[in-house]
Amino acid sequence: MKKLVIAIDGPAASGKSTTARLVAGRLGYLHVDTGAMYRAMTLKILSAGISPDDTGEVGRLAGKTRITISVSGGVTGVFLDGVDVTGKIRSPEVTRAVSQVSSIAAVRELMVSEQRRLASAGGVVLEGRDIGTVVLPDADVKIFLVADETERARRRQKELREKKVDVMLEDLVHEIHERDRKDSSRDLSPLRRAADAVEVDTSGLTVEGQVAKILHIVEGAKEKLGPRQGTDRG
Ligand code: C5P
Repeated sequence: MKKLVIAIDGPAASGKSTTARLVAGRLGYLHVDTGAMYRAMTLKILSAGISPDDTGEVGRLAGKTRITISVSGGVTGVFLDGVDVTGKIRSPEVTRAVSQVSSIAAVRELMVSEQRRLASAGGVVLEGRDIGTVVLPDADVKIFLVADETERARRRQKELREKKVDVMLEDLVHEIHERDRKDSSRDLSPLRRAADAVEVDTSGLTVEGQVAKILHIVEGAKEKLGPRQGTDRG
């Protein structure tokens, strides 16, 4: 059976990670959270005491950095220079600085080449901001997830509460709004729906509903690609 390359893009807190992880699990595919890779790079920059605005220093450090994704027991981990940093990359400090770091060309080059390497064998779900537009413009399935801004903030608040972190809803709305603004307005690989992506609005959907919708789109793509089966990635 042909193993597809699936790209899921969308704004902050649109449900990409949860959906991508579950879709990948259902298909037996690798899940690559590309946001986690940019967060790991940001963690390194902040830990080194470098300002995220210092493009030259950030670029130099990026050139000496290795960020990889690895899956163990169905859980995707992100490794920074061989060290598992999965538990450290979602801090408010990293979240505040990540859009600045991800707008730097040297950082994006490093990440994109690793992401393409991970996708090269197929059987992969990559999620991020520029997967369908820049990283994998020939992906077999492209999804663009959207959801109402307040609804996204509510979901993020619920996730944080489960981790015993209390943040006001309006602060989360502001954080999400600002991150989307920066990610959509940057020059390099801005957050944008690919012309051939299917838009899925998750506002009124449960997680199971989102997963079912995407699996349905994947099934449709597999049927269309049927004649090509066995002639490519295998
Ligand atoms: O997906 P997540 O919210 O964890 O992404 C964190 C940040 O990483 C985004 O706000 C964006 O600045 C950056 N990012 C990116 N390109 C991607 C994935 C994430 O620029 N493909």
